[in-house]
Amino acid sequence: MKGASHALVGTAIGLSTAVYYDMEPAATGLAMLLGSTAALAPDLDTNGRLSNRISLHRKWLWYTLSAVGVLIGIYSLISLQGFFKAGGIIAALTLIIAPRFLIKQRFMVMLTGLAIVGIGWFYTEYWIIYFGLFTTVSSFLPHRGLTHSICGLLLFSYIAHTLENSLSIEGITVVCFLAYLSHLVLDMKALPFNKKGVKWFLPFYSREF
Ligand SMILES: [Zn+2]
Repeated sequence: MKGASHALVGTAIGLSTAVYYDMEPAATGLAMLLGSTAALAPDLDTNGRLSNRISLHRKWLWYTLSAVGVLIGIYSLISLQGFFKAGGIIAALTLIIAPRFLIKQRFMVMLTGLAIVGIGWFYTEYWIIYFGLFTTVSSFLPHRGLTHSICGLLLFSYIAHTLENSLSIEGITVVCFLAYLSHLVLDMKALPFNKKGVKWFLPFYSREF
């Protein structure tokens, strides 16, 4: 499945979950952004071993990193003051602008992941640290491997749970869980537009579905 479709489905999941939880307008926008990010996150492994064959996906990788940049930017504007606010905005702009020029290979994804870890460590925000680690590890994984499994889904949902606690907006974990899940379902072999399937039970059982 193409990045655009994943992002669209994720955004729709964000919107409907926001309506279900009766979120404020700002939180609804955030839920839509998070939905599209979570729906693209499994493909952070795209620059892995098979990257040369799937260069089209790079654009969506940039989009995912930019979306994280926007999230960090919004967070800095709302929750941080002074020096930290400025630092957060610079970090956000870097994530939004730099990947377009830098990311040519998985090494750059790894560096970006490590930079996100650094930012999270600096602000002692665990969700940023975890997301950075998720990105770093994904850069080493083969495409449609662990990030496309129940393990990856649960890990990502845990990161979202940490973000939900940090922002105190109910429903964030649900948005991310459903959006990430939608990616895996839409990547399944049962659907006519997929040649490869999803190994749901990695690392325990490597059958493709
Ligand atoms: Zn995928």
